[in-house]
Amino acid sequence: MAGEYVYRAGAKNMSARELNLDGHRTELAVRAADLKKILDAGGDAEKMERSLRLLRQVEYALWRLERGRFGECLKCEGKVERQVLDASPWAIFCGDCQGAVDILQAEAKARRSTVKLAA
Ligand SMILES: [Zn+2]
Repeated sequence: MAGEYVYRAGAKNMSARELNLDGHRTELAVRAADLKKILDAGGDAEKMERSLRLLRQVEYALWRLERGRFGECLKCEGKVERQVLDASPWAIFCGDCQGAVDILQAEAKARRSTVKLAA
C-alpha cells in the first residue's frame, strides 16, 4: 500500500539542523501562500495548472516535514541530497531516483506520441 510505503524508516536519523528544517518550513510556507495568491487571482489556464501542481507538492512537503519524513526519498528511502532540497524543498526523490523517474516519464511520453502518430 502506498501509505505504508511512505511510513517506513528513512531520513529521520538526520538532525533537524542538518536538514535545515526551519529554513525549509519557512520557505515552503511562503511559497504556498504565494501560490494560493496566484490561484486566487485566476488567469492563464496553463499557469493555474502549473501553480496548482506546485502547490500540491509544497503542501505535501510541509505535511512530510511535520511528520519527520522531510528529505527522505519516496522511492529508495535514502536521503534526498542537500543541494536538491536547497533548490527544491518539495523534492520527493533523491538525484538517482529522480533520474530514473525522468527516464520513465520520457519513455511514457514517447509511447504516447507514438500512439498518437499511429492513430
Ligand atoms: Zn532515491
